[in-house]
Amino acid sequence: MEEQRPVVIQGAMEVETQHIIEQMTEVREEPFGPFRCVRGLYEGRPLVISETQWGMANASALAALAIARYKPKAVISQGTAGAHDPSLDVYDIVLGARTANSSAWQSHYRAAGSGVDYRGLKKLGVFAWDERKQAFTQEVYHFGDAALLAAARQAAASYRHGRVVEGTITTCDSWNCEVDRIAFLREFYGSLAEEMEGDAVAQICQSFAVPFLAVRIISNSILRNQDPWDLGTGPACQDFVLALLRAYWQQDSGTGL
Ligand code: SAH
Repeated sequence: MEEQRPVVIQGAMEVETQHIIEQMTEVREEPFGPFRCVRGLYEGRPLVISETQWGMANASALAALAIARYKPKAVISQGTAGAHDPSLDVYDIVLGARTANSSAWQSHYRAAGSGVDYRGLKKLGVFAWDERKQAFTQEVYHFGDAALLAAARQAAASYRHGRVVEGTITTCDSWNCEVDRIAFLREFYGSLAEEMEGDAVAQICQSFAVPFLAVRIISNSILRNQDPWDLGTGPACQDFVLALLRAYWQQDSGTGL
């Protein structure tokens, strides 16, 4: 039988990766330079866990390296996020039906001395390869893979720590704490939550035709309280991702692949 291609799971921090690694067998450390990367099996299926550190450049570079080294069946960017939607609570999970890079914009002209207004923006998007058009196109939104989303919906049925919702996740190398700024981002992009990796990885995966999904757990909500980041959300998100993977692999056995 042809060797199965692994699924690559990215997380920025140890608290977003270690819980999965502890449940894997035949674990091998296969770092990319100073970045931790672990290959192994989960329930007999091949998995690669890549710990990227924070931010878009790290996550997208490691996605490209993992795609070249492992030729993965899919890539998942998972971990913590801050809420943009006031109805979301810590431990709720957002499935990235789509992601957007919220630093990709052009401001409208304002003359010297007339100040700044970050609400006066035009969305630019980022360049990724469009297979149908056979060209690099500038797109604001990247869409989550349908099969991964279907598996995530199945996993949602057994998630006990909060709600699971689908929608837009925005990505930027920023941490927003101004309530008005967050309200603007929510309205401008339709975003439910923000983090620092997802859309950068979506962009790379689209260009290399690798199925992708962002899965994020709300670890903090400035709209609800000013509590610090809840560390318990990291493992809860990883348990959700393992349930997602079991459902995803089940799809394969259904079609005899
Ligand atoms: N406060 C924690 C923070 C980690 S935040 C600490 O001091 O350790 C940075 C990471 O968490 C990024 O990888 C990002 O993807 C995610 N993240 C969580 N909440 C976020 C928020 N409100 N805004 C942006 N990124 C957030």
